[in-house]
Amino acid sequence: THEIKGWERQCMSYEQEYRKGNAAFRAVSNSEKSGREKGERGMKNQMELIFDAVSQNEAFARVTAGAFFSQLNPTLEVMADVKTAVSEAVTNAIVHGYQNKPGKVRMQCTIEGDTMTVVVEDSGIGIEDVEKARQPFYTTGPREERSGMGFAVMEAFMDSLHVESSQGRGTRVEMKKKAVPGTEAIEDA
Ligand code: ATP
Ligand code: MG
Repeated sequence: THEIKGWERQCMSYEQEYRKGNAAFRAVSNSEKSGREKGERGMKNQMELIFDAVSQNEAFARVTAGAFFSQLNPTLEVMADVKTAVSEAVTNAIVHGYQNKPGKVRMQCTIEGDTMTVVVEDSGIGIEDVEKARQPFYTTGPREERSGMGFAVMEAFMDSLHVESSQGRGTRVEMKKKAVPGTEAIEDA
């Protein structure tokens, strides 16, 4: 028997929470993880990260999502849009979802064709009224710190935004971005 390391214990308790239904995180099947669902031709590529809800990890998540997205050769502008949107979603999970208390944030990035889907999930307090929360300038945070523009930014910078939330259980944000329409045309010209 081997000594159980800290990170293993964390994963175990995490899994227990998931089994009890306390976490918003969903188990990902092996075929999904390896991206084999769409056949063996490498059309789909997926990564998943679970990290502590601390502000240092905002930059980590943003850079990691960007690095993954870079395999689609996006323009700098499109890359910046994705990074900004990821940053907003992760910040929300940390400051609103967990209110800066300990918790885990899950980020999943999936590339299919020329589009990346990013899912950011927390098992925090959840949102009472998602439609209201998505309005520009709506914030429950301190006015000096928060402008209420996070969701508006995600919506404007990404091609699509879906927000699911349930109070006391957590929030799931799903966003999609096409690498860039017209890259080929520019290269061909
Ligand atoms: P800004 O993003 O401009 O700093 P903000 O975070 O308040 O301000 P949004 O990102 O648009 O603005 O979020 C609007 C509101 O939705 C938040 O004030 C908060 O009440 C709620 N919210 C957003 N994300 C979450 C989350 N993951 N968990 C719980 N509540 C959230
Ligand atoms: Mg925000």
